[in-house]
Amino acid sequence: MSTPVEQKISHAAPELLYETARKKLYELEDLMSFYRSSSQVSLLNESAEKTEVPLSEELLFVLGKAQEHAQFSRGAFSIMLAPLVQLWKLSCAENKVPTHEAIAATLPLCDGDNLQLQRASKTAALKKEGCKIDLGAIGKGYAADVCCDIYQSMGASSAFINLGGNVKALGSRPDGDPWLVGLQHPDKPRGVCFAALQCSNQSVVTSGAYERYQEIDGVRYHHILDGETGYPAKTELKSVTVISSSSLEADALSTAAFVLGLDEGLSLIKESDCHGAVFFTSQNEIYLTKGIKRQVILTESFACYEA
Ligand code: ADP
Ligand code: MG
Repeated sequence: MSTPVEQKISHAAPELLYETARKKLYELEDLMSFYRSSSQVSLLNESAEKTEVPLSEELLFVLGKAQEHAQFSRGAFSIMLAPLVQLWKLSCAENKVPTHEAIAATLPLCDGDNLQLQRASKTAALKKEGCKIDLGAIGKGYAADVCCDIYQSMGASSAFINLGGNVKALGSRPDGDPWLVGLQHPDKPRGVCFAALQCSNQSVVTSGAYERYQEIDGVRYHHILDGETGYPAKTELKSVTVISSSSLEADALSTAAFVLGLDEGLSLIKESDCHGAVFFTSQNEIYLTKGIKRQVILTESFACYEA
């Protein structure tokens, strides 16, 4: 998953739990990686149009959830943007912005309907030549959920996993206090936080424009795309952090809310099953949803609004 992983496990024999989760993470990478030619995701991506590709129950589960979140977010979150993600990656590697024509030609491949899941036969098919899926905005969330399930099923009631900023806490800390998760300040060096979030049995996931971007001719292009325009999401937000019992949900919703922007993003969060969100705007204002206000400790004084 191209990311460092941190596991904290309170248990009499934590090594076994750690090792089991570690193995599972490699297994998930083998299943869901966009870049490994042998992964099931790649087998589907390289399949001829309309060919039914057999998939594991686990991948079908993740794809089903991805479709639910795409529908719920009206396409702001979409695993079908892979061809567009690739176009931007290839162009940026040459220090170029893709042409309007190339973007316009790629957009029809990104339609949500282009992926068809057949639950009965446990297969999936892509409708058009060139369609691909990319689980980059949901895979780490799913993996965090799976690892916490492993810890719990092996007898731990206190554990914590951090997959490159995608955090999930099982129970509370061994001393009974809630886990504390730092929220990265979008404009400050890595590790400098604008808030600490207290959490127990919750996942905390942030999407932002500040970490992965490329500057071309003085303009920043970040890695979260808007499937309507084909360009990086134009938003008044620097980051969105979502708190949920499900890390998969927090991962998908944080990406979606970032694309939708403050107003629509807030509505989406309120309509969803998640516990709440923290929005950091380009004006350095903070918007907190009611449900999680008591969990947030700001490290500096910000203009802070309850939404
Ligand atoms: P990160 O993984 O960097 O924490 P996200 O969870 O927001 O951030 O996922 C971003 C990744 O997902 C991108 O690198 C790209 O592969 C893919 N992606 C980009 N835009 C979207 C989108 N609107 N919906 C779903 N996936 C996206
Ligand atoms: Mg995400």
